[in-house]
Amino acid sequence: MSIRTGAAYLESLRDGRQIWIDGELISDVTTDRRLAGAALSMAALYDMQHERPGMTFVSPSSGDPVGLSFIQPKTVDDLIARRGMVKTWMDATCGMFGRSPDFMNVMLTGLASSYKTFGEPYGQNILNYYVHCRENDVAMTHTLINPQVDRSKPVQEQSKDLAARVVKDTDAGMVVHGARMVATLCAYSNDLMVMPSTYLQNVPEAAPYAFGFSIPVATPGLRFICRPSVIHQHAGSPMDFPLSSRLDETDAMVVFDNVLVPWERVFIHRNVDVANGLFQRTGSMRQTMHQFSTKNLAKSEFMMGLGFAIAKATNIDQHLHVQGMLAELIQFTEFCRSCLRASEADATPNEEGIMTPAAMPLWTVRMMFPKMFIRACEIIQTLGAGGLVAVPSYAETASPVWDDVEQYFQAVNLDSRSRIKLFRLAFDVAVSSFSGRQQLYERYYSGDPVRLAGALYSMYDKDSYMDRIWGTLDRLEQGRL
Ligand SMILES: Cc1cc2nc3c(=O)[nH]c(=O)nc-3n(C[C@H](O)[C@H](O)[C@H](O)COP(=O)(O)OP(=O)(O)OC[C@H]3O[C@@H](n4cnc5c(N)ncnc54)[C@H](O)[C@@H]3O)c2cc1C
Repeated sequence: MSIRTGAAYLESLRDGRQIWIDGELISDVTTDRRLAGAALSMAALYDMQHERPGMTFVSPSSGDPVGLSFIQPKTVDDLIARRGMVKTWMDATCGMFGRSPDFMNVMLTGLASSYKTFGEPYGQNILNYYVHCRENDVAMTHTLINPQVDRSKPVQEQSKDLAARVVKDTDAGMVVHGARMVATLCAYSNDLMVMPSTYLQNVPEAAPYAFGFSIPVATPGLRFICRPSVIHQHAGSPMDFPLSSRLDETDAMVVFDNVLVPWERVFIHRNVDVANGLFQRTGSMRQTMHQFSTKNLAKSEFMMGLGFAIAKATNIDQHLHVQGMLAELIQFTEFCRSCLRASEADATPNEEGIMTPAAMPLWTVRMMFPKMFIRACEIIQTLGAGGLVAVPSYAETASPVWDDVEQYFQAVNLDSRSRIKLFRLAFDVAVSSFSGRQQLYERYYSGDPVRLAGALYSMYDKDSYMDRIWGTLDRLEQGRL
C-alpha cells in the first residue's frame, strides 16, 4: 500500500473502537455530530498528499510514494523538504491541529532511526513497525503521561495505583492494565503508541512502568474516555465557529483493561535504562521539535494575518500602539521562522547518518511559543474589542433582517458579510472554548514548562560561558581586556 485517500482513511476508522464522549459510546466517529468535522479534516489532509506537490518520497522498500513526514533525513535538503510538507498541512489547518499525523510520523521515524538504542529484539520491532506505518500511512495517537493522582511521589509509590503497568507476561505478549493520559487525536487514529516520558527511578518496583509499545486503537480492552467537544452544537452556521467545527482533535484518558500487547509490537519491556531519556538519546526529540516548530510558524503567520485584517477593517492600524501590537505578531512569526532555519543551517548527521536539526534554536521555540501564542490571543482580543461580541451569526446574512445586517455591520474597509466572517473567525481563535483549549495545548503539549526549563538548564553548555566570565575577570585584574 502507498499513501491513502481520504475516503480510505475514513473507512479505516469504522473498526469497532471504543471512543466514549458525553456518556455515549460512539459507533462511527466519521458521522457523529461532535466528531465528524475533524474526521473530514483529517481525510482532507490525506487527500492533499495526493493532490499537492512535495508531499511524498519514494519508499526505499516498495518504490511507492509514501508520506514525506516518514522520511529519514540524510541531508539538510531532506529536512527542508519535510518542513515544506508539514507546512502545507499546518497552513491548511491554521497551525491549530497540533497532532495531525505528521507529528507522530516524525516522532516514530526519529525513534526507529536509532533502533539499536532499544536493544534486541525490541529494536527490530520498532524498525518493522516504522516500515509498517510508512507503507500503510497509519495515523497514530500517543500517550506518554501517567494519570494525575499524586505528583509528590514516584509512580511505584502511589497509594492509588492507577497508572498503566505491565501486569503479566505471556507467550503471546505482555498484558497492560491501568490508565494513561492524554491521547489527543485518538478518535481519528488507527494506532495508539504508548511510550515513556517521565523519568522513572531505577529500582525493581519501577520496572513494570518502563515499557513502550503500539497497538491498534480498536484492540480489545482499550477504551478512550474523551473530554466534551468544544464544538458549539447549536450554532446558526459552521462559519460562526469555523475552526472549532473542523479542528477539534479530541483529548482522552486511555484505559487499558488487561490489554494484550503482542511481542512484535513491544519496543521496551520492563527496562528503566532504555525508557529514561529515550527521546533525547535517539534524536527523536529534535526531529519532533522541528515538526512542531513548523506548526508554530504556520500558527504565528495565521495569527499575524488575522491581526492585520482586523486592524485594517476599521483603520485602527493608524494608531501607534496598534502598530506596536501588530509588530509583536511580526516578531513572533519571524522568531519562529529564524529558529527553524537556524536549526536546519546548523543540523548535523548523527551516528546513524540521520540529519538532525540543531537542538537549541528548536528548544528556544519550544519554551517561548506558549507565551507568544497566549499573547497573540490577547492581541486579537484587544484589536477586535467589542466587535468580537457585536457581530451576529453568519446565518443572519440570509435572514429577514439582512437589510439591517448589511447596513450596520459593515466597516470602513469591509462589507458586512466579510466583516462577520472575519470577526467570527477571530472570536473562535481568541475567545471561544476552542481557543482556551488551544492555549492549554500550547502550554503543555510538549511537557510541563517548569520541568522543561529545568531540563534545558541542565543540558545547556554553561561551562564555556562561565569560563569566559572568569577569563575576563582575570584579564581585568591584570589591567587588560
Ligand atoms: C491539550 C493537551 C493535549 C495533550 N496531548 C497529549 C498527547 O497527545 N499525548 C500525551 O502523551 N500527552 C498529551 N498531553 C499531556 C501533556 O504531556 C502533559 O499535560 C504535560 O506533560 C504536563 O503533565 P501533566 O498535565 O500531568 O501536569 P502535572 O505533571 O500534573 O503538573 C501540573 C502542575 O504541577 C506542577 N508539577 C507537578 N509535578 C511537578 C514536579 N515533579 N516538579 C515540579 N512541578 C511539578 C507543574 O509544573 C504544573 O504546573 C496533552 C496536554 C494537553 C493540555
